[in-house]
Amino acid sequence: MKVTIATLGELLVEFLAKKENQGFSAPGEFWGPYPSGAPAIFADQVAKLGFNSLLFSCVGSDAFGEMNIARLARDGVNVRGISVLPKATTGSAFVSYRTQAQRDFIFNMPNSACGLLSADHLDETLLGQCQHFHIMGSSLFSFRLIDAVRKAIGVVKANGGTVSFDPNIRKEMLNIPEMSQAFEYILDYTDFFLPSDGELDYFGLSQTRDESKIVASLFTRGIKHVVVKRGPRGASYYSEDEQYHVPGYPVDVVDPTGAGDCFGATFVSLFLAGYSVPDALVRANASGSLAISSRGPMEGTSTLAEIEAFMARQERS
Ligand code: ATP
Ligand code: MG
Repeated sequence: MKVTIATLGELLVEFLAKKENQGFSAPGEFWGPYPSGAPAIFADQVAKLGFNSLLFSCVGSDAFGEMNIARLARDGVNVRGISVLPKATTGSAFVSYRTQAQRDFIFNMPNSACGLLSADHLDETLLGQCQHFHIMGSSLFSFRLIDAVRKAIGVVKANGGTVSFDPNIRKEMLNIPEMSQAFEYILDYTDFFLPSDGELDYFGLSQTRDESKIVASLFTRGIKHVVVKRGPRGASYYSEDEQYHVPGYPVDVVDPTGAGDCFGATFVSLFLAGYSVPDALVRANASGSLAISSRGPMEGTSTLAEIEAFMARQERS
């Protein structure tokens, strides 16, 4: 039986500033609307790999919402968990890059349709079919969403399933107090923890900057797999008795948003499907590289055939 992987949270449209350093304080040109939202990108990547993918979210009854649902359905995501709220507007985000690694956002999320997602929107029959639940830290921006996450963890864990957590910290959201409390709760139920190297410091209990020590402290609280994402420098996998490291592929950066989401979706899906850790890690690394090669946050999701063709091309050159 194929695993079913569920996630929940923001489903947005994104507008991308055309120029580096364009910012948001003067009129300028933007590309978009693009389908976006970290959990949505994750769900799209899971579906493209051929696994059962379920996204719980809310959109408004508007063209942005229709575009998002149509796009996810086209790629094979089960969209029955997406509610269309007649009185709300689909969420949006504006992004402007300062450099390839630094970007600023303006989010319209808490007041949008996806900000209204609550535990009541999670159909228990649908959730009951899931063997795995993935959490994006960026989705924990309201008490309603945190409540929904608690419910999903409860149902999936009670059925013997597993949980993955990508903190996906956005500096624009760090002042939300519910968020940091929820991080602590979620870590206690996490099987797969997928931070980026910069985020690991946040979880280092401010005691050490030594990666192996931070990782060791995570194992003591029950986490079984830690995968650290390092942007152009690749990624590392740690369990209590194994570690693997892969260097980044040398690729041109077009739009890095979404790389971590594609990486996480590919690693978790392939691991749960029985791939060895090194095989899942190298494919996740390739999936992240492919994500940054397309403009638009969800435009760089790829099939397993595309990932393996990319790996073969890289090996030849
Ligand atoms: P985001 O939250 O923006 O989606 P992230 O910070 O969670 O990203 P990154 O480390 O930026 O995650 O990217 C995830 C993976 O994608 C990396 O581990 C790597 O495999 C690949 N990747 C990202 N950026 C690059 C790059 N510039 N060159 C090559 N590979 C990259
Ligand atoms: Mg991320």
